[in-house]
Amino acid sequence: MDYYSTQIRKLIEELSKLPGIGNKSAQRLAFHIIHMPKDQVEQLSKTMLETRNKVCYCRNCFTLTDEELCPICKSEKRNHKVIMVVEDPRDLAAYEKTGKYEGVYHVLHGAIAPMLGIGPEDIRLKELMKRLEGDVEEVILATNSNLEGETTAMYISKLVKPTGIKVTRIASGVPVGGDLEYIDEMTLLRALEGRVEL
Ligand code: ZN
Repeated sequence: MDYYSTQIRKLIEELSKLPGIGNKSAQRLAFHIIHMPKDQVEQLSKTMLETRNKVCYCRNCFTLTDEELCPICKSEKRNHKVIMVVEDPRDLAAYEKTGKYEGVYHVLHGAIAPMLGIGPEDIRLKELMKRLEGDVEEVILATNSNLEGETTAMYISKLVKPTGIKVTRIASGVPVGGDLEYIDEMTLLRALEGRVEL
């Protein structure tokens, strides 16, 4: 890329560090940015920085938010006795899109993967168990249906069962190994409605 000046090369390099952005896309984006009005570029970089600085974990469910408690945990319309356990904030978003789930969530930020050295203490599991000391009627395990997701679901169900709280697992029918965020809303709803008690 010696044909580009140092500054342009630097921008292309930074952009190509983003997921899904190869060198070609990075070049396209870089030239787009160069031709954007200056105030738009300022707004974009300001928003990126502000978001990075302000966004934190909800102190209750650990989804990403810019307040102490996320809107779902704060809402009085939600059923706080039903907790759906998901791996990622994007899974939460997928279920929210269905508009049919009235409970609350708990975001683990990962799944147990012994092969990758990720154990129960590396995800937000302790925090979930702490929440279960409160008034909870059901824990819905909505981790992915791949090996890590299943391992995590089994592990959590074994922990929760002795507490007497009902533990359910979303129905299979969710494609194996499929990330929840890519599954359409109907499939998600069917998986939720067809959940089975463990
Ligand atoms: Zn929350």
